[in-house]
Amino acid sequence: MPLSFDELDFGPPHYRDMLPPVCRRNYGKWKYHEHVRGGIIRHVSESGEEAYSVRAGIPKYLSADTVIELCELAERYCEGYLKFTSRHNIEFIAGDRESAERLAGELERLGFPVGGTGRCLKAIIHCVAMSHCHMAAADSLSIAKALYEEFYEDFRNPEAFPERVKIAVSGCLNMCGATHASDIAVIGVHRRPPVVEDAVVEKVCSVPELVKSCPTYAIKPKRGNPRSVEIDEEKCVYCGICYSLCEGIRIHDPENDGVSLWVGGKASNTRAGPLFARLVVPYMKPEQPRWSTLVGTVRRILEVYRENARRGERMGEWIERIGWERFFRLAEIEFSEKCIDDWIFSVETFRRGTNFKMP
Ligand code: SF4
Ligand code: SF4
Repeated sequence: MPLSFDELDFGPPHYRDMLPPVCRRNYGKWKYHEHVRGGIIRHVSESGEEAYSVRAGIPKYLSADTVIELCELAERYCEGYLKFTSRHNIEFIAGDRESAERLAGELERLGFPVGGTGRCLKAIIHCVAMSHCHMAAADSLSIAKALYEEFYEDFRNPEAFPERVKIAVSGCLNMCGATHASDIAVIGVHRRPPVVEDAVVEKVCSVPELVKSCPTYAIKPKRGNPRSVEIDEEKCVYCGICYSLCEGIRIHDPENDGVSLWVGGKASNTRAGPLFARLVVPYMKPEQPRWSTLVGTVRRILEVYRENARRGERMGEWIERIGWERFFRLAEIEFSEKCIDDWIFSVETFRRGTNFKMP
């Protein structure tokens, strides 16, 4: 007997079915909201009804026991509803201020920082990198931890910066952590072409697949041995795609892999519209576990942004206003020719003028 349409599993349920009752009752009728304190926002509806969002930072991985504890809090304070956000937060909607404050206290007691609202550092997001992914050039989990520990108070303070700051970390240029659209992005980089192990490639890899996989046409069948491949180092951009297709190709290189730093991206279409982050530091050595050079550079960038930007100005908007040359000087970052956007098809971002005002 075939299953009916309703019995089949067609992905997630409609989002309206999952809304907390207060949101369903007031859908489309919210009049305004105000920040009560770090991590708590009061929403007021046309009907006069109120709701309080409570937000707390959570790790990317949670144990089943922790999820059960969070669900118990939702049962106690929010009619059983909670939400995990894509930015590694948990959000609850409480019906009144007292429940919101008590819930925030319970979250703090369990070790989750309440915050992430207003002009603060938003929760730092990162890809799975070495915990699940073979492409990683850098351990984005330990980078995110080092950054989070350094800027922990800025997550809790709703007036920490002129405008919200989003930091994201990706283990490689695939940017699974949405790094291209973050105010500050840390991206792991490979810096040498992959090494081909002929004996393995001959046995387990498909040469046509490998040739087809390379975005820059750097791979071709090997001269004198067409069962293996050779790589044109001039054309290789170290993306790692060939490596993910064939275990006879090795891209990891502990001597040369590391991280790059990008600044000024944002996803929202407010004011200047969405912006891509731009490269400001092409390479830093891996320094697990504290990543002190990277953390120090991010601290300097955040300090000059805090001191110089206008209220409401995102980092990319501030830099566009003062000029990238001045940003490099203020943040005491050495300019490298590698930071010049010279991709010939990038007509939107390509700097076509010849004038640079570097100090
Ligand atoms: S960004 Fe790179 S390392 Fe991170 S999960 Fe994606 S492919 Fe893997
Ligand atoms: S790393 Fe990327 S660019 Fe280099 S050879 Fe492999 S697929 Fe081509």
